[in-house]
Amino acid sequence: MKHARSVVLAAFLLGTSAAGADSILIEDTTLIDGTGRPAVEGVYILLDGNRISRIQRSSISAGNNPRRIDGRGKFVMPGLMDLHVHLRGGVKLSPEGLQEQADGRRDGVRALHSYLYSGVTSIYDAGNVPDFILSLRDDERSGKLTSPRIFATGSIVTYPGSHGSNEWGTQVDSWPEAIPALDAHIARKPDILKLTYEERGWGSRPMIPLLPVDLMQQIIRYYNDRGIRTTVHASSEYRARQAIFAGIDTLAHPIIQGPITDEFAHMMAAKKVPMVTTLTIGENYSRLAEHPEYLDQRLYRATVPADQIEKLQTETREEYQERKWTWWMKIMTTIAQENLFRINAAGGVLVAGTDQSSGPALHRELELLAAAGIPAADIVRIATLNGAYFLGRERELGSIEEGKIADILILGADPTVDINNAKRIEAVIKDGEMLDLETLDLPVNR
Ligand SMILES: [Zn+2]
Repeated sequence: MKHARSVVLAAFLLGTSAAGADSILIEDTTLIDGTGRPAVEGVYILLDGNRISRIQRSSISAGNNPRRIDGRGKFVMPGLMDLHVHLRGGVKLSPEGLQEQADGRRDGVRALHSYLYSGVTSIYDAGNVPDFILSLRDDERSGKLTSPRIFATGSIVTYPGSHGSNEWGTQVDSWPEAIPALDAHIARKPDILKLTYEERGWGSRPMIPLLPVDLMQQIIRYYNDRGIRTTVHASSEYRARQAIFAGIDTLAHPIIQGPITDEFAHMMAAKKVPMVTTLTIGENYSRLAEHPEYLDQRLYRATVPADQIEKLQTETREEYQERKWTWWMKIMTTIAQENLFRINAAGGVLVAGTDQSSGPALHRELELLAAAGIPAADIVRIATLNGAYFLGRERELGSIEEGKIADILILGADPTVDINNAKRIEAVIKDGEMLDLETLDLPVNR
């Protein structure tokens, strides 16, 4: 199977490539540009360096002997984005922990490779061990590491005892006493600030302390005044609305505690606050409990080691079957799906994200959005340009337009007809460079 596919891929990619060419010309293809515009056939796309330099509906005569790709029967779309990740492998610094850190980094890199293999060219890590994620981000940006673009928060900012405060929290409890801790966080150049605004008391979880709303407002303003966008974990309409009116730029999750009001859907359309969909995190428990065979699908077998799949399908599955949370989240996922459908239909800005740590999870997220009734053409935008809006990077990322950075997928079938076609990945181009998927550190290549 692997070999058959490799031969096809190699024949397709070789085409009439020019050795050492620093430009790529995709000829006579169907373009799905990520903006929501309909697909256009017979398009020629010239990539020069890391940029998309020309797009037109007639042949381009490029002077510098570009690598030519026959795009007939292919579909070109922007690279996918997962805008809520906690990359696995983060280990806190300790003198004895060097081996653990090395192992953690290897796991993290493998997860990053699973994203590339799945066509994900940008991720946002919404909270992690700062040294771990920020060093990976540095290595990606300096070209040392084959990886999707990494945008990261590092440490999240929380109130003592509140959601997430034990994991990667910078804890603050009053203003202006919080400022030195925030300055230390800002010195590490977070791409986005992440807050949590969640008192629980729903599902099987007891109540916990909540960040005071006036303190939240001060923190948001402090980061915005330094040019940094913000996101918040909230799960109810009431708390999401409070965070929005306190000035938050984006929401890291859908509303999952209950059905939203019509007013909330209209407000999300009026304000265009990007909302990350994260259905996969809640749904993955019942999915494993009820359908462990999903792990036999091609993308999972290619990216998850066989012994891990075996463990998930037996031990972990049994554990999930026993958990009340599994069955609570199964019910609430359908409510979150309906909420997302209504916000999208009203004109709100949804953004694909999983709250997980693997490339295949992003494709599950897209399946769940389709099951919510959201049209495939909308999902393409939700997984590309809307992600760039979330990051504040829409001028350079997220769509295939002249002048933008060339993060591009070449697919064997049309994702605007069926979003599952986004899995039919034939080539991944990141930063203008065609990736060799066979060199990634993944089970499919070992
Ligand atoms: Zn999260």
